[in-house]
Amino acid sequence: MTKTYANLIDGEMVTSEATIDVLNPATEEVIAKVPACGKDELDRAVDAARAAFKSWRKTTPEERQKVVLSIAAAIKDNADELFRLLTSEQGKPHAQAQQEIYGAAGLAKAQSGLTLDDVVNQDDDTRLSRTRRVPVGVVGGIVPWNFPIMMAIQKIVPALVAGCTIVLKPSPFTPLTTLRIAELIKDVVPKGAVNIITGEDSLGPLITEHPGIDKITFTGSTATGKKIMEGAARDLKRITLELGGNDASIVLPDADVEKVAEQLFWSSFSNAGQVCIAAKRIYIHEDIYDDLSKAIADYAKGVTVGDGSQQGTGVGPIQNRKQFERVCELIQDAKDNGYNFLTGGDTDPSGTGYYVPITILDNPPEDARIVAEEQFGPVMPLMKFSTVDEAIARANASEYGLAGAIWSKDTDAAVEIAEQLETGTVWINEFMHLSPFAPFGGHKQSGFGAEYGIDGLKEFTYPQVITVKRDAVV
Ligand code: NAD
Repeated sequence: MTKTYANLIDGEMVTSEATIDVLNPATEEVIAKVPACGKDELDRAVDAARAAFKSWRKTTPEERQKVVLSIAAAIKDNADELFRLLTSEQGKPHAQAQQEIYGAAGLAKAQSGLTLDDVVNQDDDTRLSRTRRVPVGVVGGIVPWNFPIMMAIQKIVPALVAGCTIVLKPSPFTPLTTLRIAELIKDVVPKGAVNIITGEDSLGPLITEHPGIDKITFTGSTATGKKIMEGAARDLKRITLELGGNDASIVLPDADVEKVAEQLFWSSFSNAGQVCIAAKRIYIHEDIYDDLSKAIADYAKGVTVGDGSQQGTGVGPIQNRKQFERVCELIQDAKDNGYNFLTGGDTDPSGTGYYVPITILDNPPEDARIVAEEQFGPVMPLMKFSTVDEAIARANASEYGLAGAIWSKDTDAAVEIAEQLETGTVWINEFMHLSPFAPFGGHKQSGFGAEYGIDGLKEFTYPQVITVKRDAVV
């Protein structure tokens, strides 16, 4: 019989009559069921989080750190079980699922010790004025399906560290590993401080508009981010939005073709390209374009697309049918327009499992849908450029502004280019590296606010200024 996973509400694992089927994207088989929650379950979770907030907000940084470290340990100690479960619901190869699980435990550990110290604004004979940071209250966390555990942890951990409590909703496509973690942390987290409830997309707006929730932290598409901003405006909830991206990589003519080819490949194809910060447009200087595009296409030939639970798989399936069909449609559009493919392009939306072959395009035009839109799949358009100014202008010609990368031996020249890119993060000679201590957030339509580091933590707090008049006559 298919297992039904339970939700974590007020310190208890609870099930519901209505359920959602969860599929393995490699086989399209139903592997488990989870509760399909609505308003009643949400109200209970919010009440529990509000009650827990009264005492959690008064805890010391050391007490919070202890709880967060226990969460990190619970994930790390059960990593083997968790990464296998993650592959079965998300599709990513075991090695990448392992990285996500250990990465989430590492992030929790690293951020457990972050503190927001008081800032003294004035300290003289007339006045002592200081700014302290106070927790905003109950947080609603909404998470996508591409990195379900990393995204859940990067919401739960700073919320707790800041003194908030949280109600978290995983994506209906990938709730299982999060609910297993809920079970594992149930007894190490104070009752009601962390609540995890599952539901269809329709549960999202109920969270955004719930009067008992003070802040929304969301990761997902730009389209949904705009709806969240609208919903949150009703009672001026605080919001942090991590949204889509169409990240550009710029490869300068001095880059070592052989060495860079493999890294560029994985900057686009890890997690089957379903990464907000994947390289989705690659601009290569014309002097090395032919050699580098050949080296990337040659490298691609050695990478296997398949079931992520099988040894040797480098690229797994797309996570869900809707996204699979969207990627197939973009590829079909490129074929219909006669663009040149270096590899891939043959999709079969009627086959079993959401598999898309590694697809590399040779110099499609800038206005091709596959270049201009966020593909979020195993697709890599390579484009030729002549001058650095042209590459910068083309990279910036996007409504998105999440991240980008420059590849060159001349790091000073690369920094100069980086400073002209309109994105929240720019890597030089690496990709997708996020530090627990540096702010991560999008410019333009890639987001609002930031996660990670002190900047990210501050978003779970309000500043409060307390002023003592020292020379007052009272
Ligand atoms: P999505 O926006 O469809 O869904 C994300 C979450 O929002 C899910 O839990 C979903 O149930 C919920 N949701 C759906 N409609 C809602 C509504 N009206 N109100 C509130 N919640 C609602 O996104 P997705 O398809 O799951 O994820 C893919 C997108 O996420 C891509 O665009 C990708 O770039 C982006 N993403 C961004 C980051 C980042 O850090 N910037 C990271 C990962 C993914």
